[in-house]
Amino acid sequence: MTKTIEQILQQDQFTKDDIVRLLQSKDEDEKALFVKSSEVKLMHVGKNVHFRGLVEFSNICKKDCLYCGIRASNSAVNRYDIADEEILKAAKFAHENKYGSLVLQSGERSDQKFIDRIENLLKEIKKISNNELGITISIGEQTKETYQKWFDAGAHRYLLRIESSNKELYNKIHPNNEEHSHETRLECLKSLQEIGYQTGTGVMIGIPFQTYDDLANDLIFMQNFDIDMVGMGPFIEHDQTPMYQYKDQLMSLKDRFRLTLKMIAVLRIMMKDINIASATALQAIDPLGREKALRIGANIIMPNITPTSERANYLLYQNKPCIDEGADDCTNCMEARINMADGVIGYGEWGDSKHYKNRQ
Ligand code: SAM
Ligand code: SF4
Repeated sequence: MTKTIEQILQQDQFTKDDIVRLLQSKDEDEKALFVKSSEVKLMHVGKNVHFRGLVEFSNICKKDCLYCGIRASNSAVNRYDIADEEILKAAKFAHENKYGSLVLQSGERSDQKFIDRIENLLKEIKKISNNELGITISIGEQTKETYQKWFDAGAHRYLLRIESSNKELYNKIHPNNEEHSHETRLECLKSLQEIGYQTGTGVMIGIPFQTYDDLANDLIFMQNFDIDMVGMGPFIEHDQTPMYQYKDQLMSLKDRFRLTLKMIAVLRIMMKDINIASATALQAIDPLGREKALRIGANIIMPNITPTSERANYLLYQNKPCIDEGADDCTNCMEARINMADGVIGYGEWGDSKHYKNRQ
């Protein structure tokens, strides 16, 4: 006999079929999923929402991911690389405004000069913040030595999305060359975990060729990998990328949005004590998208504190929100939004993943 959604939600563990059913749920069933995930969130991570000041410090990238607006082959992009002083200024802003943590994100580069520069920057940020600012980095695939170097310099969290746990699907959305390999991505995630980073991953939701089975497997992958943090968001097409050719085959933006919320809700029930970010891409579809994600399971939000002059050049997808707001406006706006979502900002706290602490 087929289980009802209520019965599935009462279980401790989900099978892949259960997850698919939850991801396909609608109306009253979808509501029941969100009620359960909100309860789990409140019980295990509480009302606190943690800020990660996001600095998108460079859009220079050697990779050519077929979905990304700043891929190396997109010659229409104005490339930038924010000066170290500007990055430090943003770090100071985050520290003074009690953000607790900073995220340094950029396109992927691995030349020695770049590696050394990041190492110095990390040390400098630790120094100017009296070691009070937590640091997450998201700079793509690197060697284990580089990850170790950056860890020793002060970074303690790393975000590297698997994009899809299905190797065939991964290969369809990346160029067919050695620079883009699913195995390498998995090895990178393992290295990060072995070094001791709080390790974060995630997937895009609604990419061409993706099935409900794929998404259920993605959640199971995160659980099996014992991941500490997750950031997943809807795929949003960009007309200067090869993936744009499939735009007519995509589900509607509204459906990608609903599906992302359901992915977050199911993951919160599966991995009760991890950190889950409310992705900016949600807000590109629904002005209150990030607040909705906070209500049903997410507990991390990443206000953009990149200098406004460069924000418009970090366009991974079209209609990216908040590209013309200064860091101050961003904070005020966030505060109001989090209050609206019945959250409490964990000012000045690192907001580490409880899961990471629990598995030490
Ligand atoms: N270069 C690093 C990397 O790839 O890990 C960090 C920056 S990259 C822009 C961050 C994330 O942006 C990627 O992991 C990908 O999931 C997401 N992204 C890229 N293009 C996107 C798109 N068109 N829609 C939604 N998310 C996208
Ligand atoms: Fe570069 Fe990251 Fe975009 Fe891929 S997703 S092209 S690695 S910035």
